[in-house]
Amino acid sequence: MGSWMKELAELHAKHVLTPWSVQKRASGPMIVRGEGSFLYDSEGNRYLDLSAGLVAVNLGHGKEQVVQAIQQQAARLCYASPAFFHDQRALLAQGLSQSAPWPEGARTFFTTGGAEANEDAIKMARMITGRQKVLAFYRSFHGSTSGAGTLTGEFRRFAGEPGIPGVVHFWGPYLYRSPFFSENEAEESDRALRHLDLVLLHEDPTRVAAIVLEPVVGSNGVLVPPKGYLARVRELCNRHGILLVFDEVMTGFGRLGASFGAIRLGTTPDMITFAKGVTSAYVPLGGVLVREGLAATFDAKPLWCGHTYSGHPLAVAAGMGALIAYRDEGLFDRARLIEEWLWRGLRNLEKESPLIGEVRGLGAFFGLELVRDRETREPLSLWHKPLSPEILWLQQQLLGRGVYAFFKHNVMLIAPPLTITEEELQDGLEQLGETLRRLWEEPSF
Ligand code: PLP
Repeated sequence: MGSWMKELAELHAKHVLTPWSVQKRASGPMIVRGEGSFLYDSEGNRYLDLSAGLVAVNLGHGKEQVVQAIQQQAARLCYASPAFFHDQRALLAQGLSQSAPWPEGARTFFTTGGAEANEDAIKMARMITGRQKVLAFYRSFHGSTSGAGTLTGEFRRFAGEPGIPGVVHFWGPYLYRSPFFSENEAEESDRALRHLDLVLLHEDPTRVAAIVLEPVVGSNGVLVPPKGYLARVRELCNRHGILLVFDEVMTGFGRLGASFGAIRLGTTPDMITFAKGVTSAYVPLGGVLVREGLAATFDAKPLWCGHTYSGHPLAVAAGMGALIAYRDEGLFDRARLIEEWLWRGLRNLEKESPLIGEVRGLGAFFGLELVRDRETREPLSLWHKPLSPEILWLQQQLLGRGVYAFFKHNVMLIAPPLTITEEELQDGLEQLGETLRRLWEEPSF
């Protein structure tokens, strides 16, 4: 490590609290620049951003239209009270309504990120229905603030326990490790729905305000629901007057090959929470899209939600720049092309590496589930435990080969910028294949 990079790393260790880390063990390259599919560290090393940061930089790094939109807005107006109206917020909300799945249109309440969006969605669902309970999956992530953290169905919620009252978890479908002992997709879907039906019965569905779901579960393993599952959850919600909220913080903005996952998956919720891709993560922004019929509830009664930065001018200007870039370059659809490349490339890796238990995904959103043994499906790193030495080794080796990817336990998330070229992706997968081969042959494991 060069002396400048070393000095910066020492400054970081001394003054920064790194998220989700034992501070003494926090480490990583010192990133100073990004361009297209690549990040660059202070020593000029290049990293292919195979997970678009945290599945967020959908437009790749340094997209000119967005950078210019931010610069122009910064020169014109950096802040005004959110009680005032302003041009970019109105335009972005119109653009989002046009990109959303509702023919009736939608209105947006803007936040600063995904967790806040879920907090506000919970509050709105409670205000609209007058009910209190909210259901969410085990094996889900909805953010780390109090309410969103309570919705979260995995270990990252434990630090915030007991959390907010009224949240009930249930199991969603996950055929590879079926909580229902199912043997095929249809069985998994049926059993998962029967389970949800029972949970609703025992919670009293008339007390349930909303079911909040990631339409494709993201950081908990890229779990694509079986055909028909979401539509039947929609039916259950209709039957009981429960609002369906899709958390599209990861799946929105072209990740699944459409503006929103709801469109690709053909099931329409009542609200969509979003963040990340809305500005390609260039500026923090999130929000709740509420279908018009529900948003109109607040025409006559107050909306008890608000933040200093709701609809921050720089953020919504970045969002507007991003929306134009997505549309001008046809990037909402491009994930369907990337999906073909990924199926082909990852199926080849699966043939070569016994460490790959399952490849799954949709659009430009794939997970590689890594196992010690394909027969027993023993995970290469246990859930709810620190990362195994193998996964740590894999991450380090990949970085050494110029590839960054986001891991959650034994699942590697492959979710590149939607602008990635086939050649860049192939190079990344070749490095991955080689690293997996070496890990399999590594005598020290
Ligand atoms: N919801 C989902 C599905 C996410 O993946 C995340 C973050 O990764 C969040 C919510 C939280 O978003 P934020 O980190 O912007 O608060």
